[in-house]
Amino acid sequence: MSGKLILVIEDNEKNMKLVRDLLQYEGYEVLETETAEEGLRLVEEHIPTLILMDIGLPGMNGFEALKCLRASSATAGIPVIAVTASVMTQDHQKIMDAGFDGYQRKPIDIDEFLEAVRVTIERSFGERSTE
Ligand code: MN
Repeated sequence: MSGKLILVIEDNEKNMKLVRDLLQYEGYEVLETETAEEGLRLVEEHIPTLILMDIGLPGMNGFEALKCLRASSATAGIPVIAVTASVMTQDHQKIMDAGFDGYQRKPIDIDEFLEAVRVTIERSFGERSTE
């Protein structure tokens, strides 16, 4: 799994630490930031394999950030998983309607979370290799 770069956009220190530790343990490289604005800059610079996006962020929120990513051809194809404390069914629907590639609830379920990361990256590579 080495060489796979994951950008984590998360403003909660505790959640960030957990996600970072899990991903690094699995052998992923992790880039991190607390804001969507900084995240968008990092995406342009590093073109990560996957983005994990908190929805509630201090400035621009996760929905707005996804819109920016999808609007640029350089970043439109990068898979983005929303990670949010929201558990309402209508919020889940809103997240999928917005075009996120997946959705993970906080507090995260470790096995389910890592499986979603793995599958989303695999799917994305599969799509690219058949283009
Ligand atoms: Mn947050």
